[in-house]
Amino acid sequence: MNFIKEIGIDLGTSNTIITGKNREILLNEPTVAAVDENTGKLVAVGTEAKEMLGRTPTGLIAVCPIKEGVIANFNVTVAMLKSFIKRATKSPLFKPRAVVCIPSLITEVEKRAVKEATLAAGAKEVFLLESPMAAAIGSGIEVNRPYGSMIVDVGGGITEIAVVSLGGIVQSASLKIAGNVFDENIVAYIKKKSNLNIGEITAEDVKKKIGAVYPLKEELETSVRGRDIVTGLPKDVTITSVEIREALKECLEQILDGVKSVLEKTPPELAADIFDSGIVLSGGGATLMGLGKLIEKITEIKVYIAESPMESVAFGVSKALDEIDTMRALMS
Ligand code: ADP
Ligand code: MG
Repeated sequence: MNFIKEIGIDLGTSNTIITGKNREILLNEPTVAAVDENTGKLVAVGTEAKEMLGRTPTGLIAVCPIKEGVIANFNVTVAMLKSFIKRATKSPLFKPRAVVCIPSLITEVEKRAVKEATLAAGAKEVFLLESPMAAAIGSGIEVNRPYGSMIVDVGGGITEIAVVSLGGIVQSASLKIAGNVFDENIVAYIKKKSNLNIGEITAEDVKKKIGAVYPLKEELETSVRGRDIVTGLPKDVTITSVEIREALKECLEQILDGVKSVLEKTPPELAADIFDSGIVLSGGGATLMGLGKLIEKITEIKVYIAESPMESVAFGVSKALDEIDTMRALMS
């Protein structure tokens, strides 16, 4: 039997993707676990656990073990990863080597936690790769050239903005403003405007359906169901893409400020390269309608959406598996 010897892990706040070599996706599931409240035991992970979110029967709690890009619950991360790795490699006993992505600006303690969690989850050896670098590689940017490229990855927990050149990150910023905060702001907006309480899952659905951060030729609308704050009864309200834009205004300003500030700190030659070649947008947030256009308007730089934005980081780690032996030499 042929065991999978190396795996890449994109341990995102919202989704975990495990890859083999050559961009093979072995597993792609939400970073969620359902835990028994009394025993602390894991009941379900991934898609199965996400379906329970917001609807958990008594006695079960849904845990998102990664918050804002870093491990918030170590034990649940280990248990979830153990199950994911077993499923991805289809082998309960063979221990693979793993390359795992980490945000670009995390502490040594947070880095060590990722390494230890992956080892405890069944990896034989663990190498870390900064996720903006992975996103750049996975989006097809030639990162080893002496040429500046900018990648903006808008995930669930964090937005990472980075300039890469000569195989390294030259300048970067990591903001705790991303998909989850968008959802929270939609919840708050609808509560204030329509006296309606909706859940974050509903807010996320609305965002995906009609969220557009740049004016549309024909604005969209949808109906949302929630609980009326005054009467306590279920109520349907119509919400438009214009309102979603209003709800997301502040978050978007912060992301745009982040992009501008990284550009300002970038050495002039590299900035000139970016002006020529454009900015690449990846992560689930890249699929938010109009985000590319908005960044284009503010920076006056062309923005390209990565081909499979939600898989960019995963494809990048997959590519890094080819270099695991060099990484190993560098790290030992
Ligand atoms: P992470 O790397 O943090 O796990 P992802 O890159 O997988 O995050 O992106 C997840 C985020 O992308 C979530 O906040 C999700 O709501 C958002 N997202 C996914 N699809 C869409 C869409 N079509 N429109 C807007 N946001 C989306
Ligand atoms: Mg990500």
